[in-house]
Amino acid sequence: MTTDKKTISDDPASWSPETQLVHGGVLRSAFGETSEALFLTQGFVYKSAEQAEARFKNEDPGFQYSRFGNPTVSMFEERIRLLEGAEVARATATGMAAVTASLLSFLKAGDHIVAARAMFGSCRYVVETLCPRFGIAMTLIDGRDIGNWKAALRPNTKAFFFETPANPTLDLVDIAAVSALAKEHGVTTVVDNVFATPMLQRPLAHGADVVVYSATKHVDGQGRCLGGAVLCTEKFLTDHLQDFIRQTGPSMSPFNAWVMLKGLETLPIRVKAQSATAAFLADALADLKGVSRVIYCGRDDHPQATLARKQMTGGGQMIAFEVEGGKEAAFRLQNALRIVKISNNLGDTKSIITHPPTTTHYRIGPEARAELGITDGMLRLSVGLEDQNDLLADLEAAVAAARAG
Ligand SMILES: *Cc1c(COP(=O)(O)O)cnc(C)c1O
Repeated sequence: MTTDKKTISDDPASWSPETQLVHGGVLRSAFGETSEALFLTQGFVYKSAEQAEARFKNEDPGFQYSRFGNPTVSMFEERIRLLEGAEVARATATGMAAVTASLLSFLKAGDHIVAARAMFGSCRYVVETLCPRFGIAMTLIDGRDIGNWKAALRPNTKAFFFETPANPTLDLVDIAAVSALAKEHGVTTVVDNVFATPMLQRPLAHGADVVVYSATKHVDGQGRCLGGAVLCTEKFLTDHLQDFIRQTGPSMSPFNAWVMLKGLETLPIRVKAQSATAAFLADALADLKGVSRVIYCGRDDHPQATLARKQMTGGGQMIAFEVEGGKEAAFRLQNALRIVKISNNLGDTKSIITHPPTTTHYRIGPEARAELGITDGMLRLSVGLEDQNDLLADLEAAVAAARAG
């Protein structure tokens, strides 16, 4: 993408992201295939008993068993690692497997975790319910204010965990400020970077230690396979993550890795197109009668617009908005849509609408919803790859239908 004259070397680290995502990490077999091969195999054959022994002693590099490693999965890991500029990456079966493995691989009974309370429902379960069951104390805070992170610190605090932008309110956490505070106190910062995607935000560059993804979302990007990834340092991998994944088994299947690998090739153009449409729709929605509020990271009226500009290179493809008339109006709006689909997923080529209070955020209850600013009229829109004018026409008609009720 750069227009400056540059010399191309064989080192993928010197390539632009668009090039890394097409060619990075390729392991060609003896057949010299153009497209990456799908290695659907559980195990690997050794040439001799001696080689098997050497492989298990880590003296002979190579694969042993697909729970530990597989060529197709390795290609996916290497490609996303390059993009993120991380030392290492490990693929997992789902985004939640990535979140759980990243936290439980290094936390132990007696430790304390601080997390921003605005987060994906299942992440909240891991922090709020699962961690305490294993003796890991937790504190949930409003992560927007650095003072709250400071105040929550205890001598045994070992992890800071947050997502930014958060689901569904698009609240932001200052990655650099929180990571700097964490470093001062020997705390590991884990960031769930799903909403921003690796194209629009690089938490590691802002000081985070570990980044997790639900590859289910924009990496596949076409609503097919579940997957996740953890990006971290060699040290974190060797000290914690490697054995955890190897021995407990939240590994990514080769088939899903192959789908994700091909998804990465088109990630930049998809994110760019979807973000442009989202910016267009956010502005259009803000002008519609019956829409009382629009939250979009690329708009100047986002409550943390300055921070958004500091740590994100684009507004992303998620929009939250509120309709007048609460749940009834929000339901009428959803039911009137022709192109946008009602689903709780996101990051698809198909535009998707969700009513968080009755779906993804139903279980946390009205009090927690009020605390997070999730009102009964709030809707979350994941913008797809359809024509922006078709989407606008669909939304305009649906907002009109919501008002007419
Ligand atoms: C979807 C999602 C997850 C969980 O990912 P799965 O692949 O569904 O397990 C975690 N965090 C965020 C922010 C998500 O959007």
